[in-house]
Amino acid sequence: MTVAEETNPYQIALQQLDTVASVIGLDESIHGILQKPKRELTVNFPVKMDAGGTKMFTGYRCQHNTGRGPAKGGIRYHPHTDIDEVRALAMLMTWKCAVVNIPFGGAKGGVICDPSTLSRNELEDLTRRYTTEISSMIGPDSDIPAPDMGTNGQIMAWIMDTYSMHAGHTVPAVVTGKPVSIGGSEGRVDATGLGVVMVTGEAAKRFGVSLPSARVVVQGFGNVGNAAARIFAKHGAKVVGVSDQYGGVYNENGLDIPALCEYAKRTGQVMGFRESQDVTNSELLELPCDVLVPAAINNVITASNAERIRARLIVEAANGPTTPVADKILFDRGIKLIPDILANAGGVTVSYFEWVQDIQSFFWSESQVNHRLGRIMTRALGDVLDAADKYEVDLRTAAYAVGVSRVAEATITRGIYP
Ligand code: NAD
Repeated sequence: MTVAEETNPYQIALQQLDTVASVIGLDESIHGILQKPKRELTVNFPVKMDAGGTKMFTGYRCQHNTGRGPAKGGIRYHPHTDIDEVRALAMLMTWKCAVVNIPFGGAKGGVICDPSTLSRNELEDLTRRYTTEISSMIGPDSDIPAPDMGTNGQIMAWIMDTYSMHAGHTVPAVVTGKPVSIGGSEGRVDATGLGVVMVTGEAAKRFGVSLPSARVVVQGFGNVGNAAARIFAKHGAKVVGVSDQYGGVYNENGLDIPALCEYAKRTGQVMGFRESQDVTNSELLELPCDVLVPAAINNVITASNAERIRARLIVEAANGPTTPVADKILFDRGIKLIPDILANAGGVTVSYFEWVQDIQSFFWSESQVNHRLGRIMTRALGDVLDAADKYEVDLRTAAYAVGVSRVAEATITRGIYP
């Protein structure tokens, strides 16, 4: 298999669906329905640039499935995003919402751009124009975006404002991950990272790893990786390695995470942090540790490094960090892996809470949010562990079995229209 074949995200998503279809005995026609995105849109649009003139950008929105409720999924701003990545991530969202049993289908969006090279004005104009271009798809009852790589609460605020201007009234529930001042939820910023730590804590008990003394390595120091590293450290775990796109830092005795957060904020990177050794991203993934948390991009654990991974447990905070070939190598080596559609579902779960709060205009405290998140993550992990025992499969296949079965059941129960 070529590297391009091993790492095409949509081919990987289809392959994972095929694997689980044979495990659960999925009906052939339902399998056919679930292989295809329900609806997708490509938009090309101009943005006025500060230097004068306009530049054309390409964006996407894809709804994979809405059988269990409105479509839900993030928007990614990244120079290398494309329609296959967006399709794959939309499909993952369908399974993820079903694994944590929240009433949403799956969607994803993206714009091909490097947000770090755009001014604030350009970023706002790009966001408002992209929102207008995809406005026929999004809405509080149809498709609800959220942040993903390269986007954040401010961008969600511009999306909400643009949609509301067109509607003629404020529609907070059209996006989640908004700032609290305009209808965001307490606890949303850290929710994905907190969910990662909650699932790791529960899984660690089952697999004989003690979280309070565990050595943890986190790849990525953005929305998810930063929160996960902080919360792991708060729970007493020793975070020995952390990286961002430029490279990483390692200290076998544990990094001072609050000081590292401060350092990364000031300098824009983690490398060069005191009392640590600089490492490359490839070296970071192969550090000896108990828990490895890929929290950056997809396809970082592949056939070329899976043999050298020295973690006992891998917890996929990023979407799609491990290829199917690497999955098999890790499974054969006895390394446990908590898959993305379970491990990083804390974000969409608190997004669901945000949507519910917006619709009711009735808001919860952070401790209520975190308590409800803990209940959902623990129950979802239990469902996946039960499925792994029932079908005698690895945890990714088990998570897919739970998610795909629930979506299939909804499809069969609703029936095929007309
Ligand atoms: P982000 O843009 O906030 O942060 C990404 C981090 O990864 C940054 O620290 C960046 O420097 C680093 N990075 C980028 N390219 C890299 C590379 N080639 N090697 C190593 N590090 C690199 O993004 P995020 O929102 O934290 O998302 C990270 C992952 O988590 C993505 O896969 C995303 O789909 C997934 N995810 C995010 C959320 C969420 O709530 N934001 C929820 C579920 C899943």
